[in-house]
Amino acid sequence: MSEKVISFHYKLTNSKGDVLDSSEGKEALAFLTGSNQIISGLEKELMSMSVGDKKTVDVAAEEAYGPKHDDRIADVPREQFPEEVEVGMMFSTDPQGQSIVTVTAVSDDTVTIDANHPLAGEDLTFDVEITAVREATADEMAHGHAHGEGGVQH
Ligand SMILES: [Zn+2]
Repeated sequence: MSEKVISFHYKLTNSKGDVLDSSEGKEALAFLTGSNQIISGLEKELMSMSVGDKKTVDVAAEEAYGPKHDDRIADVPREQFPEEVEVGMMFSTDPQGQSIVTVTAVSDDTVTIDANHPLAGEDLTFDVEITAVREATADEMAHGHAHGEGGVQH
């Protein structure tokens, strides 16, 4: 199956209108279709757009980073953390650095950690503009990501 590499500029806001992320002043982000490089709700919309198209895409939490799960929040004895632990710090809980937890509260005895994605449970809005669309190369399909400007450079 042939995949495409789509480059786009974006501004990400949450339902309160706070800007969470933006490609302003940076290269457009390039991603390989069909490889889960970006959230599915956004990819679906971008696939139907052409170069130069602008659009505001609302993505419900379910199609973004999923709902927040209370069972991914836990209290852990404070002594398991470094002395300087504070709210907002992030730790990885496996050697590959894949699962990240965020510290959401610190008391004298316990540290509360949240393993949800920081954007879990958030309805997101993306203002996007497509800057380029091209066929993916065989290398990109083998690697599962886009190469070159805005993609993975290696
Ligand atoms: Zn690669």
